[in-house]
Amino acid sequence: ARPRTHSLLDGLDPDQRAAAEHTAGPLLIVAGPGTGKTRTLTHRIAHLVAERGVPAEHCLAITFTRRAAEELRERLHALLAEQAAAMTVTTLHGLGALILREQHDRAGLDADFTVVDENLRQEIAAEVAGSAAGGRQLLARRDTAPHDTDEEVARFEARLREAGLVDFTDLIRIPVRLLSGDEELVAHYRNRWPYISVDEYQDVDGAQYALLRLLAGPEANLTAIGDPDQAIYGFRGADVGFFLRFTEDYPSARTVQLTRNYRSNSTIVNAAVQAIAPASLVPGRLLRAVGEFGEAPRIGVHVAADEHAEASFVARAIDRLLGGTSLHSLDSGRVTEDGDDSLSFNDICVLYRTDAQSEAVISAFNTSGIPFQKRSHDRLLSRPEMRLLTAELPHHPEGPVVDRVRSAVGALCRRYGDNERRVTNLLAAGELVSPLAERCGSDLSEFLSALSLGAEVDALDPRADRVSLLTLHAAKGLEYPVVFLVGCEDGLLPFRFPGEERGDEAEERRLFFVGLTRAQRRLYLSRARRRTRRGSGYDAAASPFLAAIDPVLTMPVDAESATRRRPKDRQLRLL
Ligand code: ATP
Ligand code: MG
Repeated sequence: ARPRTHSLLDGLDPDQRAAAEHTAGPLLIVAGPGTGKTRTLTHRIAHLVAERGVPAEHCLAITFTRRAAEELRERLHALLAEQAAAMTVTTLHGLGALILREQHDRAGLDADFTVVDENLRQEIAAEVAGSAAGGRQLLARRDTAPHDTDEEVARFEARLREAGLVDFTDLIRIPVRLLSGDEELVAHYRNRWPYISVDEYQDVDGAQYALLRLLAGPEANLTAIGDPDQAIYGFRGADVGFFLRFTEDYPSARTVQLTRNYRSNSTIVNAAVQAIAPASLVPGRLLRAVGEFGEAPRIGVHVAADEHAEASFVARAIDRLLGGTSLHSLDSGRVTEDGDDSLSFNDICVLYRTDAQSEAVISAFNTSGIPFQKRSHDRLLSRPEMRLLTAELPHHPEGPVVDRVRSAVGALCRRYGDNERRVTNLLAAGELVSPLAERCGSDLSEFLSALSLGAEVDALDPRADRVSLLTLHAAKGLEYPVVFLVGCEDGLLPFRFPGEERGDEAEERRLFFVGLTRAQRRLYLSRARRRTRRGSGYDAAASPFLAAIDPVLTMPVDAESATRRRPKDRQLRLL
């Protein structure tokens, strides 16, 4: 045998390694949560460049969020040093924006076009259609039927262009249109990026799929990575069908499956597999936990009277976890060995289905003095104060950006001094974007484009010692030692407004699955018996998704006593 040398693939297991060593032709990595898909992607790119001689500038890596792109860039930099800078690592919208900037002439756009924010977009649509409802219909037609543009839609697009604006739909659709009829342009981009990797491929939509097909070509070095059971953006037009037909689109594709979960303990992995089973798109899925020592603690289940009691359970449980009297140290009458005493706030995450649920949690955290950062999956510019701030920033061009943000927020607060709510929201907006500003350094245009293309979750700061408050959609790809999933109720999981129709129940179950699988060591599922939403209260039943989890994997907990209850009682409390 050849002497073993140090390789960039050393940190991978044999299956991951096989995926990473695949150099030419299409590759599908289909695997469950925590199996190291993203890690494999990182090492594969580093290996291609450092050990297979692929020029770094030939690599295009697509992630789902800008935050994930940044993290990937950082990891590649750690593995490859300067070479990493030549790669293109971005989101699909970032890629669309990059192509549009380069091809603005062909697209009939100014080089300095801006991405319109959602409110202005709706205003323009309403104006063109003559009413707000008409505007909503116009946008729905535009986003779902790309090929039959009616006269109203055409006028709407013309209005955007006159104002030098594009929207998110344009960012993908215009590059697709430009590339579709133009062999030369297609060849240009295929030569530029012969190696394309796409993480979270299960959540691409039709237009994004078309763009990737054009860029990759028929026999591409395209690596698609994902998990159909984590497809959670169908409500926004994503279609897991594109993932499922990858091997038909690319018949020469090699498929690699990964089955070892490195993230979570066996209790969490088993519960998650049980929870997804009734709707799994990967029949016979294999997923097992590795690298565990000792007995894994059970999943804590808490039933509270209402959302405020639920929130104070979370706050008190966090106090106890950090204070050393861990809830689970009492689970089995002995202290568990995996070092809970070393937990800090940023090891903890609270997940919920709807942003509104964060209110009760925030108020309980404020009362208990628990520091937190709250992020949703919404676009950064969906809040009016964020738009005021972005408009103000160019007037503060001096200094490192963090300073710019501070100075812009200060100026706006003086302007709106008599509007207390607005000032509070402006300060919150400033705090939200500060980590982004810090990362963009002194590059104002990079910062502005991060703001226009980004989602709130992009501004998540994993280094800040704060508890993360995230919507389930925003938590995609992330992991935390301790996870609280609140609101495990029918009506929230699956989501439904009282008196309204059900949404896609399978997608809701996948969302629950994504939530469970963010946890590494401790998972708590809570619900309220009574909840108030949109101002009206109702009695809430347990989420039907809980019923799929074997009760031997769970135990009831409350923050005060955290004592183990009799098994019979336990089942009653869970159901
Ligand atoms: P998700 O579906 O949630 O995005 P994923 O499949 O992308 O999950 P990763 O985030 O890449 O999973 O990996 C999960 C965790 O397991 C990370 O902390 C990662 O560092 C660790 N991990 C993955 N592979 C290995 C390995 N071979 N050895 C040690 N740790 C690993
Ligand atoms: Mg991942």
